[in-house]
This record gives sequence, C-alpha cells and structure tokens, in this order.
Amino acid sequence: VMASMAHLQKEKLRLQEELLELQEKLTAQENNELSLSFQLQGQVETLKAKLLEQAQEISRLRSELGGTDAEKHRDLLAAENERLRQEMKACEGELRELQRQQQAPCRDCPHLQENAELQEQLSQLQREAEETRAKLVELDLEVQQKTNRLAEVELRLKDSLAERAEEEERLSRRLRDSQETIASLKSQPQQIKYIIKTVEVESVKAKQALCETQSRNQYLLEQVGMQKQVLKEMEQQLQSSQKTEAQLRAQIMMYEAELERAHGQMLEEMQAMEEEKNHAIEEAFSRAQVEMKAVHENLAGVRTNLLTLQPALRTLTHDYNSLKRQVRDFPLLLQETLRSARAEISQAIEEVHSTNRELLRKYRRELQLRKKCHNELVRLKGNIRVFGRVRPITKEDGEGPEAANAVTFDADDDAVLHLLHKGKQVSFELDKVFPPQASQEEVFQEVQALVTSCIDGYNVCIFAYGQTGAGKTYTMEGTAANPGINQRALQLLFSEVRGKAADWDYTITVSAAEIYNEALRDLLGKEPQEKLEIKLCPDGSGQLYVPGLTEFRVQSVEDINKVFESGHIKRVTECTNLNEHSSRSHALLIVTVRGLDRSTGLRTTGKLNLVDLAGSERVGRSGAEGSRLREAQHINKSLSALGDVIYALRSRQGHVPFRNSKLTYLLQDSLSGDSKTLMMVQVSPAEKNTSETLCSLKFAERVRSVELGPVSRKAELGSWPSQEHLEGDSPGSSAPPGRSHASPSPGQLSSRSASIRRKLHTSG
Ligand code: ADP
Ligand code: MG
Repeated sequence: VMASMAHLQKEKLRLQEELLELQEKLTAQENNELSLSFQLQGQVETLKAKLLEQAQEISRLRSELGGTDAEKHRDLLAAENERLRQEMKACEGELRELQRQQQAPCRDCPHLQENAELQEQLSQLQREAEETRAKLVELDLEVQQKTNRLAEVELRLKDSLAERAEEEERLSRRLRDSQETIASLKSQPQQIKYIIKTVEVESVKAKQALCETQSRNQYLLEQVGMQKQVLKEMEQQLQSSQKTEAQLRAQIMMYEAELERAHGQMLEEMQAMEEEKNHAIEEAFSRAQVEMKAVHENLAGVRTNLLTLQPALRTLTHDYNSLKRQVRDFPLLLQETLRSARAEISQAIEEVHSTNRELLRKYRRELQLRKKCHNELVRLKGNIRVFGRVRPITKEDGEGPEAANAVTFDADDDAVLHLLHKGKQVSFELDKVFPPQASQEEVFQEVQALVTSCIDGYNVCIFAYGQTGAGKTYTMEGTAANPGINQRALQLLFSEVRGKAADWDYTITVSAAEIYNEALRDLLGKEPQEKLEIKLCPDGSGQLYVPGLTEFRVQSVEDINKVFESGHIKRVTECTNLNEHSSRSHALLIVTVRGLDRSTGLRTTGKLNLVDLAGSERVGRSGAEGSRLREAQHINKSLSALGDVIYALRSRQGHVPFRNSKLTYLLQDSLSGDSKTLMMVQVSPAEKNTSETLCSLKFAERVRSVELGPVSRKAELGSWPSQEHLEGDSPGSSAPPGRSHASPSPGQLSSRSASIRRKLHTSG
C-alpha cells in the first residue's frame, strides 16, 4: 500500500505538474489571444479611421467640385438666359411697335417697298435671334444633362458609402462576436482549443475582408478619379458654352444696333412721308376748293331749276287731287256702268231668246221638211225591203250528203246568194243577205233605222218568212243570251225615247197576238181561246182596231220581259208541242209608240209590228188530211195574201187586197201609206232543204223585184202568185191539182203569167 501510495503520490505530482504545464500553456494561449484581439482591434480602428478619412475625402471632393457648383453655374446660366429672353422680347415688342408706326401713317405711300425690305431685314434678324435662342436652348439642355450625370455620380458615391458603413457594421459585429467567443472560451477551458482555432480561421477571414475592403477602396478611389475627370470635361464644356453665349450676346448686340439703325431709317422715312402727306393734303384741299366752287355753281343752277319746277309740281298736285276725286267717285261710276251693262246684257239675252225662238221655229220647219225628204228618200229607195238570212248547219240537219251546205255567197256583193239545187247553181239578188256567221247584233244594225222611224210616227212591219226550222223565231225572238229583233227593238225604242224626253212625252204599249187557222187570238188576254174580231174605228177615221186585244203599257225592258213571259206561258200551256203549233201560226208582237211634243202639241203614233210567220213549207204536197190539210190551206192562203198585198203595194196598184187574210187585214194600216216593211226571208243551207230554200228565195226575189217594173206593166202583170205557184215554179215540180187560189184581186194571175213575170225579172 505504501508503495502504491508512493506511486500514487508520484502520479499525483506528475499530474499536478502536467496541470501546471497546461495552465501555463493556457495563459500563454490567452495572452496570445489577447494580443491577437488587440491586434484585430487595432486593425479595425485603423479601418474605421480610413473609412472616416474616405468619407471626409468624398465630402471634400463633393464640396470641392460637386453638384452644387455646377448647379450654381447652371442656375446662373439659366438666369442669364432668362434675362436675354426678356431683352429679346422687349426688342420684339419695340420692333412690332416700330412696324405699326411705320404702317399706320403711310398705308398708301410710295415707300412701301423700302419698308417691306426693312421688314425683310428685320425678319432676318429675328430669324437669326431665333436660331441663337435655339442654340441657347441646346446649351441649356447640355447643362441639364451634365447636372443629371453629376446627380448620378453623387448617388453612386452615396451607395458606396452606405455599403462601407454596412461593412463596418458587419466587421464590428464580428469583432464583438469573437470577443464574446473568447470570453466564453475562457469560461469553458475544454472548448478553448477549438475556439482558438475558429478565431484563427475567423481572423484569416477578417484579413481577407480587409483585403477586399482595401481593393474596394482602391476601386472607389479610381471611380472618384474618373468622376473628377468627367467634371473637368464638363467644366471645359461649360466654358465653351459660356464662350458661345458671349458670342451670341455679341450677335444680339449687333442685331440691336442693326435694329436701332433700321429704326432710325424708318423714322427718317416717316418724316419724309409725313411731309409728302402734308403736301398731298394741301393739293387735295386746293382741288377740293376748286370743285366746291363748281358745286356751288351747280347748286345755283339747280336752284333756278327748282324755281322752274315749282309750277310743274303745282300742276302735278292738281292732277293728283283730281285723280283722288276720280278714285272716290269710281265705285259710283262702276255701279252705274254695271247697271247699264246689266240692262244691256238682259236686253241681249232677250234678243238671244227671241232669236232662239225664231231658230226653234225654223228648226221645226226644217224637221218637217227633213221628214218629208226622208219619206221621199224611203219612197225612192222603196219602203218594202227584203233581206235574206241563212242559218248555220245545225245538229238537227243530221250528217252525210243531206246535211251538206248548198248555199254560197258572193265575196264582193253582200246582196247576192247562190244556191246549188239539183246540180244547178241558181243565183238570187236581195237587198241584203246575211250569211250563217252573221250575228244577231249585225242583223239588228240593219233593222234599227226602221225601228226608230216608228218613234217619228211611222208604221213598221218586220216579217220573218221561211220554212219551219229556217231560223224565223231565232231572228225575231232569239235566245235569252242572244236576243233577237223583238227585244233589241224594244230596248232601242226605250233608249231613243229617253233621249228625247226633254221635248217629248212618249207612251209605249205592247200587244201580242196569234193567227191560227185564220183566227185571231190575244196572247196576253185573260181568255186566250177567245177569237177576236178586227173592226173599223167608229170615229170614221178609217182606222182598224181589235176590240178586246190586251195592251200593256211598258216603260222598261223588265216590263217587256214580264209581258213576254206571260205570252209564252199561254202558248205553252195550251199546246203540247210549242214548235209544231208555232210553226203553223203567225205570231205578232205589236208595239205602239205614241208621242206628244210638249212645245208644239204635235202628236204622233207609230206602230211596230214584229211578225214571226208560220212555216212556208208545202205540207199539202205530202197529201195531208183533216186538220193538217186545213192548217196548210190557211197558211198557204195567208202567206199568199201577204205576197199579194206586198206586190200590190210595191207595184202601186189602186186596189190592195188587204181583206184576203186576217194577217193582211190586221196589218192594213201598217202596210199602206208611208209605212215601211221588211221581209226577212230565212233559209236553211242544208242540201235536203234546197227545194224549200229555192221556194223561199223565189218569194223573196219576187217581193223585191216588183217595184222596179213600170206601172203599166205592173198593172198588166197584176197579182201575186199563190204559194202553189211558187211551188210550181221550182224546177221539176208541178202544182198539185185542186189547190185553191187565195187571191181574188183584180187581174188574177195564172201560174203561167207569174212564171213569165218571174222570168222577166230574173233575167233583168
Ligand atoms: P223557225 O222558227 O223558222 O222554225 P227556229 O228559229 O226555231 O226556226 O230555228 C231552228 C233551229 O236553228 C233552232 O235551234 C235555232 O236555234 C237554230 N238557228 C236558227 N238560226 C240560227 C242562227 N242564225 N244561228 C244559230 N242558230 C240558229
Ligand atoms: Mg218558229
């Protein structure tokens, strides 16, 4: 244990020694550290001093040649500029004033050109001044730029100073940190070594930073040098601009001198002009005085004129006054004149009235004369006219050769018609021939003159003659859509009467009658079966009348239609076959027109007889018996009688056999005298009807040709042939025996003599 104790003791001593050694080392280290920190502190101190120095240097530099001086300089220049500008403005004002003064007194003086030249010079000077001003402005701009650059440099300097301050801050912070570290190291001996190392490292870093700062400092110094250079340059520029400014100022001075000179010149000129003006005024004044004298003379003349004019004025006033009086009296005068004019006019009107009356009288006389002339004309033309109408081929005609067309016309003569009968062509000449295509309207146009003459008091008869089916009823009545002569005639009468209504009163009445088997019956009466008699008027006028024949007064087409309707109904109700019955009876429509001329009191009566005759076909030939035969005989008799009457009339025979049939007797007063008759001979063009067509046409031609023969011959030839004779005339046919002759007129004609007469007339 002792040994170990001793050993331990030894060990302890060794350890103590070791500790001492370490402590020594530590203190040495501490000393070292301390000296290092001192050293660092010294370094920092020197750096700070350097920084301060530099800042001072910068501020010194700034105060030495910094912005303030340049700015001052610039401000000075600007003030100078401003002053120069003011001066220039004043110069301009003066110039303007001068110009105004120059212009005002001598607007129309001869020195205008010189003036203009001066103005030109002035404007030149002004332009130069303007240029100088522009240069000044440019210099201003340069100075501005330079000040801007200076401001920039200052800014940069400020920045670097701030950076340096930051650096300082940073370094002092590190120093503090390292001191703190050293302190902590002192308190913590175990970490000392490590800390010492870091301190070593840190001090290296600080050295490095110092180096950097130094290099930066170097760079900043360089920059400052550069800035100084720039400043020097700027100073030089400033000097040059000051030089130019001085030059400009000299120029301005020169201009001002020039202006002064111009002004002087101008003043001189103005003086001269003033003199000229005075001279001109003097001249004008003397001229005006001369003129004034002349005007005075004129005035004297005018005065004398005025004196002579005064009497004229007096007469004028007098005239005016008299005119005024006249105007005042004018309405009275006018009234008087109007009164006399009115009287004259009324007198003239009266005269015109009387002339009118005279004219009316003359007109009536002329009318009478015209009527006479018309009658004469009609008489000469023949008041019995014969027309032919050929109906178209219809379905009823059948087909084949029987229905072939046998009638042809003459293209150049509308009165000629050719019939092909049994291979031979026979030609007939009538007053007019209507071909199948002729319309109802065309037919009526030829008839209407006849119809209107009944308004003038003529009696008119229109007969439709022909075999059954040849178109008699079609021509007279027509269809509802295409009415015939009956309706159209009445329509025309109505319109004509209406046209004359101013002077005439007309009444139109209609009657409808039928003659069947020589019996006259009223178609409009209440008892149609009753047979009517024809009697002489008891007034001794010789006129005929039918007692009991119904007369309807009509005023319009509607009235007429009603009348026709009732007539038709009666015919229809009493017969089973209308066509058959109508073909064997004569149908009459009697229109009476009675007129009264209100101004003259003249009365007229005209009768229009529209007769749809019974069929002219020869029924007797086929050997009909009984009632058929009786009918045929009656028809034959009445048609023969009609032929006889017409013949007697046209040949102007003394005796006309009206009484031989009911028809002619009834129509006596409408056939005699200056009455007018139209025979419309209807024929069929069909081949099968040629025989009947031939008969009808022969009848027509005979009726027409009678009048042309001389009276003596007419008397010689005598009467009209009967229907049988007509029949007998047709080639190849002979009259059947035992047929009675219905014409008891004097100089009765044999079939032979009739044949001769026909031949005479047809041969011309
Ligand atoms: P009628 O009275 O002579 O016996 P209608 O007048 O009855 O003959 O005519 C016989 C037929 O022929 C009728 O159907 C009628 O319409 C026709 N007809 C007659 N004439 C013409 C004509 N001009 N145009 C057209 N059709 C006609
Ligand atoms: Mg008929």
